[in-house]
Amino acid sequence: MPAYDVLVIGSGASGLAAALSAERSGARVALATKGSIQSCNSAKAQGGIQAAFGEDDSPEQHAEDIWKSSHETANMELVTVLTSEAPSAIHWLEELGVEFTRENGGYRLARCGGASRKRLLQVGDRTGHAITKALRDAVEASTVTVLTNSPLHELNEGWRARVGEHDVEASTVILAAGGRCFREAEVRGELSTNHPGATGEVTQIALDAGAEARDLDALQYHPNGGSWPQNMQGYSIPETTRAYGAVLLNADGEEFTDSLGPRDVVAQAIVDEVAKGKGVQTPDGRPAVYLDTTRIAREDAEISLPYMLRRYRSAGVDPLAEKILTYPVLHYQNGGLVIDTDAKTTLDGVYACGEIAGGTHGRNRMMGNSLLECVVFGRRAGRAAATAARQ
Ligand SMILES: Cc1cc2nc3c(=O)[nH]c(=O)nc-3n(C[C@H](O)[C@H](O)[C@H](O)COP(=O)(O)OP(=O)(O)OC[C@H]3O[C@@H](n4cnc5c(N)ncnc54)[C@H](O)[C@@H]3O)c2cc1C
Repeated sequence: MPAYDVLVIGSGASGLAAALSAERSGARVALATKGSIQSCNSAKAQGGIQAAFGEDDSPEQHAEDIWKSSHETANMELVTVLTSEAPSAIHWLEELGVEFTRENGGYRLARCGGASRKRLLQVGDRTGHAITKALRDAVEASTVTVLTNSPLHELNEGWRARVGEHDVEASTVILAAGGRCFREAEVRGELSTNHPGATGEVTQIALDAGAEARDLDALQYHPNGGSWPQNMQGYSIPETTRAYGAVLLNADGEEFTDSLGPRDVVAQAIVDEVAKGKGVQTPDGRPAVYLDTTRIAREDAEISLPYMLRRYRSAGVDPLAEKILTYPVLHYQNGGLVIDTDAKTTLDGVYACGEIAGGTHGRNRMMGNSLLECVVFGRRAGRAAATAARQ
């Protein structure tokens, strides 16, 4: 009998949610991750997480917005699961200790790009940090065996994995190793918002083992990478700046796009504006446009953007007093391994959740749905893998 029922690869929000859910379903779980347990993209997420809590909103409306933003390429079976389980995913996070920002007796909700309603819950502007900390605390207090500095090198049927210096045998495996935008940006000579562990080799290991993937070529540019000052280059300026009133302006001070359009549309509009000669240049010669953050009300900024303000002010720029410079930056892998509604890949006994999986966002993700996907499908993967291991 293998030493473990479930082996989870990766310690971002999806891996932590999967490990915890598998353990709570009675499985013997190991979690192996490439660096420290804290190292992941999930912890860097600032903006928030979507769930239909507004009185004028519903899971169906949320699903409709995803369908449109994905340009009708998302897998609607996965989307229906995502949006209908969003409220319970939020309550699960609250039980683990996440305290979402509240106002007037309810959640403080913002509207994000491509959304027809206010639907984005936030923990200030450190939502990913709060979610991963709560999940990490729960995993560390559980019976899950955590193997840090243990990158997956090899996965052989059965399942036998070589992770760092360890050989681990498990009945089922959950791949939660995130996307590849850090490596892709290096190859393209561009900036990326991603952490250095986002290199994609686990996807390749799964493909080599025969797993199917979809939309792997569809990489997302965050419309608002920081362009200046130099130490803010590659920083992802939260989309909530635009949700709270910031607008994109060209060199002549004109609005040239709907600042809250779908991500790919907004990013393309910026690139096109610069190509038309209507952009501006950073002092080190990079292309940019303005994000007029002076239109954000001080109170909104203090409640929902304190980290962003701190970062810019310590770099010598006050976004409430002057416009900031921005340009699209490589951010997210839209596609990934094909999964079903239990997060099972096309390989028996292998599950995938989070950014490594494809289908939920089609070819263009809406902001705030990735953290949600990590929690909803992480939980599903954990429960399904634990059940499968017992059979
Ligand atoms: C700056 C930034 C801001 C964002 N803001 C938001 C937001 O506001 N809302 C939202 O919904 N989404 C946001 N996103 C996207 C979202 O955070 C990520 O897509 C999501 O958290 C990915 O979670 P994950 O668990 O799939 O992967 P990650 O969090 O990237 O975790 C992957 C884990 O796998 C490990 N790993 C990688 N390779 C290996 C290997 N070979 N062996 C073992 N382990 C490995 C990594 O070390 C890491 O621990 C943001 C992303 C970034 C970068």
